[in-house]
Amino acid sequence: MPDVLQLNADYTPMKVIRWERAVELTLAEKVILVDSWPGRYVRSASLAMPWPAVVALRRYTVLRGKVRFSSRSVQARDNFSCAYCGLRPLQPDGRPDRVQLTMDHVIPRAQARDGRVFLPWSRKWVSVTCWENAATACRACNCRKADKTPAQARMGLRIYPRVPTQGDALRMTMSRLSAVPEPWLPWLPSSAVRVEESAVLPDDASFRRA
Ligand SMILES: [Zn+2]
Repeated sequence: MPDVLQLNADYTPMKVIRWERAVELTLAEKVILVDSWPGRYVRSASLAMPWPAVVALRRYTVLRGKVRFSSRSVQARDNFSCAYCGLRPLQPDGRPDRVQLTMDHVIPRAQARDGRVFLPWSRKWVSVTCWENAATACRACNCRKADKTPAQARMGLRIYPRVPTQGDALRMTMSRLSAVPEPWLPWLPSSAVRVEESAVLPDDASFRRA
């Protein structure tokens, strides 16, 4: 059964919820029905309501919650493409081919001190395995980069490794679907459906040569 896109009270997209939850929220008058699946109804002995496709909260809610760190989440943040060469390997059915991708420690583990590395572009120490030091790399790039920093390997990064924003989180959710349902499209920014190639590392001498 199809899931439901939940919008905030200002109609900005928040997250995807189960249809049962959407019905529950509708009956509790916490959300209003924005769009439904044509010709489909949720029926019970006492109820027949249009099958929700998009709902919106009646009261504005500040979104909290973090995306759990994993190599899959890093790949989803990076739109399943290599952060170095841009390669986006696909399976025959058009879905990303995750087997061809690896998670790269931008500042390599071999250069960590007490499990921490210094990120020259943000001038701070972070744990070696964290959002800001993890990037997706194809096998060839990972092999070529090996235990070097991007500057040492003379390889530029195309995607700024960052803690996922709310927009990233939404796009990562969409990336798990084989197709974004039609009724959701008017409510989603294009960046949630397709990644923007805007991400360039901020100026940093060690990266400029890369
Ligand atoms: Zn690559």
